[in-house]
Amino acid sequence: MTTRSEDSLIFYALTPGNYQPGEMRTVYDSLKAFCDKKKEIDQSDRFNIVIYQDDGPNYLEDFTLNPENILIALESLEPMIVRANMSGGIMVSATFIIDVFKNIPNKCFRMIILTDNGTLEIPEVYIPVLDNLIDKIKDMPLIIDIIRIKVNNHDDDMKLSELITKTRGHLHHVQDLNDLLPLLNDLAEKKTFSSFSLSDDTFSEEIPIENFPFYNNLAVDPKLVIDKHTCSICFKKGTNAIVQCPNCDTTSHKICWALWAKTSNIGVFNIFRCHTCFQLLKLDEDFVYMVHTGQLKAIEEIKVEVMDLKEFEETLEALDGPKIISVEDPLAMFDDDLDGDDTTITHDDDE
Ligand SMILES: [Zn+2]
Ligand SMILES: [Zn+2]
Repeated sequence: MTTRSEDSLIFYALTPGNYQPGEMRTVYDSLKAFCDKKKEIDQSDRFNIVIYQDDGPNYLEDFTLNPENILIALESLEPMIVRANMSGGIMVSATFIIDVFKNIPNKCFRMIILTDNGTLEIPEVYIPVLDNLIDKIKDMPLIIDIIRIKVNNHDDDMKLSELITKTRGHLHHVQDLNDLLPLLNDLAEKKTFSSFSLSDDTFSEEIPIENFPFYNNLAVDPKLVIDKHTCSICFKKGTNAIVQCPNCDTTSHKICWALWAKTSNIGVFNIFRCHTCFQLLKLDEDFVYMVHTGQLKAIEEIKVEVMDLKEFEETLEALDGPKIISVEDPLAMFDDDLDGDDTTITHDDDE
C-alpha cells in the first residue's frame, strides 16, 4: 500500500441562498479544518475550488499550496454563487485535473463535491457522457467523493454512486451541518492505492491497454534537434539522435529517454515525464519496446536528479496569489433556472 502527495479540488455546488449566514460559517470552518489537516499531514498537498457564477464555472488558475486562497475566493465570491450544474462542474473539474496531470508527477488527485438540493442534478442525457469520461480517467490516481447535504433522492444517489465508485470514491450524506466537519476530517486522510507498486521513487501503475490512446493524447512528442547538444541523462554528446522537451528545452538522447521510461513511465510503457519539468512525453512505441528489450543498446548509466516535489510546486505558485478563471460550462443545461440574474436561490419543488 502506498500514498502520494494529494491535490484536492473542491467542487462547491452548494447554493448559499439555501442557508442561514451562521450555517455558511459552519461550512467554511469545516473546509478550513479539512485543508489544515491535509497540510499537517503533507506540506506538498495543494487545493483548488470550483464554484458556479452566472458566467459559468470559476476556479483558481492552478492548485495552490496555500488553503487561505481557497477560503478567500469562496467567501469573496459567495454573493455571486448561483445554482451549480453537477454535470458541467464534474466535466470542468475532471478536465482541469487532467491538465494538471500532464505536468505534475506522483500525485493523487481528490475531487470532493459538496451538493445540496439546489444543485442541478445530472440529466439522463449526460450520464453516458460522464460515464465515458470517468471510464477514461478512472485509471488515473483520482478519487471522487460526493457529500450530499440534506438531500434525499434515491434515484440521483444511485446514478452518482455508480459514477464515482469506479474512482474508488464514496457518496456521503450529511443531514446536520455539524456533521460536515467530522466527515471532512475523515476525508482529509490520505488515500492509499493497493494497485500501485512502489520501488524507490517510481510508481508502476496498471493502466489497461484500451486506455493507452487517452494517455498518448495527453503526452507530447519531444522535438528532434539537429545541432550538437549534450544529453542531460548520460552527459555525452554522441551520434545518437538527440531530442528536446518542447516545454523546457531539456535535451536528451532519444535512446536515453527511452531507457529512462523503463523505470519512470506512467503505466503506459512509452509515456514518461521529462526529468526537468515533469511534462508528459511520449516516444514511438516500437522504438521504446526495442530499447526495453535490449534489441537497441542504450547508454549504460542514467544520472538524473529529479527536483523535490514541494520545491517544484513552489516554483509554480503565483507570488501575488492565484487568479480566478471563468470557463464556459461544457454541459450547460438550457434551463430557465440558469438565466435568472438574481443570486438568491429558491427551493425548486418541481424536481
Ligand atoms: Zn544520453
Ligand atoms: Zn521538460
